Amino acid sequence: MNYRLLVNKTNGLSKDFIPEELVDTKSEYKEGILINEEVLNAFRKLQNDAKVFTYNFDIESGYRSYDYQEKIYNSLVKEKGFNYALRSVAKPGYSEHQTGLAIDVCVYKDGKSYIEHDIEEFPETKWLHSNCHKYGFILRYPKEKEEITGYMYEPWHLRYIGDIAPYIYNNDLTLEEYLESK
Ligand SMILES: [Zn+2]
Repeated sequence: MNYRLLVNKTNGLSKDFIPEELVDTKSEYKEGILINEEVLNAFRKLQNDAKVFTYNFDIESGYRSYDYQEKIYNSLVKEKGFNYALRSVAKPGYSEHQTGLAIDVCVYKDGKSYIEHDIEEFPETKWLHSNCHKYGFILRYPKEKEEITGYMYEPWHLRYIGDIAPYIYNNDLTLEEYLESK
C-alpha cells in the first residue's frame, strides 16, 4: 500500500479501486467500518494514549466504496445544491475515504458521541491535532488551506501517511504541498 497516495479533486481513483488489507475497526459508533490494517494499528495507539487524558476517540467513518460515495454525493446535491456539494463532499472516485487511509474521528464524552463541527472547540480535538502526527496522521483539511486542498476546514478528518507525518506537521504543509516539493 502506498501511504502517500494523493487523492483530491484532480487526482481520482478508478471505480474498481479497493485498498489492500481492509479490516473491521470494531468501532462503537457504528458497525462495519473498515480501514487499512496499519492505519487501524496506528489509531489504536493514539486512542489508548488519549485515554490518559480521559479523551475518548473513535472512528465514525473509514473506507467508503465508490458506489457509497456516489450515494452521499448525489443526495447532498439534491439537498443543498451543486455548489455546496462540490465544496463539502468529494465526487465518487475523488474521495480520500476510498483509499482506506482516511478516518473521520468522533469524540465520546458525557455519555454522548460528537462528530464533525461539534468537536471543533473541544480540548480533545486540540490534542488530536497537535499529537496525531506522532502516530502517522495529519489533519488533511486544515484552516486557511482551502485553496490548496479544495476543502473547507474539517477538524475531524485525519489522513494516515506514515513516517512523513511529523515533517508535514512541523512545516505546516498539506499533502499537496509536500508532494509538490519532492
Ligand atoms: Zn472524512
